[in-house]
Amino acid sequence: MLDLEETGGAYQVLARKYRPATFSDLIGQEPLVRTLTHAFQSGRIAHAFMLTGIRVVGKTTTARIIAKGLNCFEAEGPTMEPCGRCNSCISIAQGRHVDVLEMDAASRTGIDDIREILDGVAYKPVEARTKVYIIDEVHMLSKQAFNGLLKTLEEPPAHVKFLFATTEIRKVPVTVLSRCQRFDLRRIDGPKISDYLGVVCAKEEVGCEPQALARLARASEGSMRDALSMLDQAIAHGGSNMVTSAQVESMLGLMDEGHKVDMLEDLFHGRVAQMLHLHDQIHEAGADPVTMLGELGMLVHELTRLKIDKDLPILNQYASDVAERLSKLAGDLEIGVLVRCFDMMEKAFHEARMAEQKKAVVDMA
Ligand SMILES: [Zn+2]
Repeated sequence: MLDLEETGGAYQVLARKYRPATFSDLIGQEPLVRTLTHAFQSGRIAHAFMLTGIRVVGKTTTARIIAKGLNCFEAEGPTMEPCGRCNSCISIAQGRHVDVLEMDAASRTGIDDIREILDGVAYKPVEARTKVYIIDEVHMLSKQAFNGLLKTLEEPPAHVKFLFATTEIRKVPVTVLSRCQRFDLRRIDGPKISDYLGVVCAKEEVGCEPQALARLARASEGSMRDALSMLDQAIAHGGSNMVTSAQVESMLGLMDEGHKVDMLEDLFHGRVAQMLHLHDQIHEAGADPVTMLGELGMLVHELTRLKIDKDLPILNQYASDVAERLSKLAGDLEIGVLVRCFDMMEKAFHEARMAEQKKAVVDMA
């Protein structure tokens, strides 16, 4: 289900259009959903939650969903299935509910800012069952501000919940942390992302090659929002109603999958001249040398994992001919060789990123 936001008929970017609106939309965050389901059912809900995770895992989106669950008018009490249609759900989604207050601690770090909020804590909610304070980037608060907050967290009124979000959990004082239920929002697995991109493509009536979606998913590094933004670009980039691997590669400056395997085969068979020649070709085709090295490193990493556990579902992200060659490589190579190779690539990757003559550094590696 989607947030009911006014689009005025204008094109809405996919990341926005498919922003999660309810718990079942939170792909890959099953532990959080399980724990909250239990808490909501038993009525034992913490007074404060700490949502942590990297930049783009959807912490504030998740906080709003929890706020909806606490306050949806369609239910008698906290619900894991907020309706998304009542006034409460809609105004929370739009960030304008009178009892759901959002503050960005990155821009309001001082004790006065937090005091303004805490002064309101004593008052009962106007419309909602529960007054919710969503404080983003909470680690940015000053020491004084944290102390002010702590007093309230020690004896919170029953009608108030705090939802904190942070990218840097280590900067949050332990005294505050110990009074919160903590959820670590995780990067989403590649296959889950590409599956969902497939669903979005179907809804948008855009055709797609599964390999293209797998490549977008890998490039997104576990962020659904980034994956959707890239899918948006890929659709625009292609100009047709079809997302292909070739388009995604050219858009992201990535190497052709087949070329990657060519390169690794050359490398492991000591065919240095062929390798350099291929690198020239790929470079001319527009692939970025550093990205290329990063991709090769990833591939060696995957081969290593495959070597350790041949049942890992790694190969099904690749076209069948590529998968076959990778599986053969994994079978032929010693694990020590793979590990050394990965170390070398890692080192070269970091050097090349800093260097002026990126291609030269990668050549030398
Ligand atoms: Zn509702």
